[in-house]
Amino acid sequence: MANDSRLTTLLIHGGAGNITPAIMNKEQEADYSAALKESLDAGYAILHKGGSALDAVVMAISVMEDNPLFNAGRGSVFTKKGLNEMDAALMDGSNLAAGAVAGVRNIKNPIVLAKEVMLHSGHVFLSGSGAGEFALSQGIEMAPDEYFFNESRYDQWLEIRHTNYTQLDHKADNLKGHVLPNPGEKFGTVGAVACDQYGNIAAGTSTGGMTNKRFGRIGDSPVIGAGTYANNATCAISCTGHGEPFLRAVVAHDISCLMEYKGLSLQDACNTVIKDKLVKIGGEGGLIAVDALGNYTFCINSAGMYRGMRNSEGKEVVAFYGLD
Ligand code: ASP
Repeated sequence: MANDSRLTTLLIHGGAGNITPAIMNKEQEADYSAALKESLDAGYAILHKGGSALDAVVMAISVMEDNPLFNAGRGSVFTKKGLNEMDAALMDGSNLAAGAVAGVRNIKNPIVLAKEVMLHSGHVFLSGSGAGEFALSQGIEMAPDEYFFNESRYDQWLEIRHTNYTQLDHKADNLKGHVLPNPGEKFGTVGAVACDQYGNIAAGTSTGGMTNKRFGRIGDSPVIGAGTYANNATCAISCTGHGEPFLRAVVAHDISCLMEYKGLSLQDACNTVIKDKLVKIGGEGGLIAVDALGNYTFCINSAGMYRGMRNSEGKEVVAFYGLD
């Protein structure tokens, strides 16, 4: 039932990292603004018509997966073997249903496949060729390798393919020995969280992971509770950043637990995990979060995050750089 004090709300992100005015020119700012706005428009239109938070999240993420500016879907980074292997997860806070895929190839919209896993597989998490088989059996839209070819990300990969380094699509200079700073300017795992007029919340995240990743590496994005989580009783969260510390800190579920068991507000719970616990283990990045009343927050410990928000009060945010 609709509640007068509840705000229908959609938040999106397109990756966090060393996003500063120094690495962006006016044209890039305009491109990212337009891309974020397109995603907000498409996702919010669903909420505005009385649609579900889950559908709004899938729509907002699909639009960003189709845009090569972001490291997800079409713009995914390259693995050590020169392939595009994608991860995605979706969670419905109204019933704790979840679906996720990891290491999938040639899937046009991995977030759509994650929804299919949630609704029709009888499982929560499918990987690699098995997830591909399931996608085929369900008639999920596929795309050829060429569709995923992106010159700047290919060049990023060419620079490090002969090493055993991996590289975040974000610039992150302090990520211990295994990760190289990114000389390029592209950032971009994508995510969305939403609160609909019925007080249901949902979260989704989609990524190509890290450039030059090996051995079937999976980050936090598709792992329920780490990079993605939603529970109507607490919050819906989508994370972005260096996946390994986010996995170790079980970031999204930890925030939910701080709210559920310790009564922290959404903002305080996010700050505790992103600005304190995660920092202590060297984790860089951020998240978007919403609760079932439409309260929301962006939270980062990095220089910036591509992000956007729209709600039923008519408020709209599209921003990249640090939060004050
Ligand atoms: N968290 C993602 C991963 O580690 C990367 C990102 O957010 O850009 O795979």
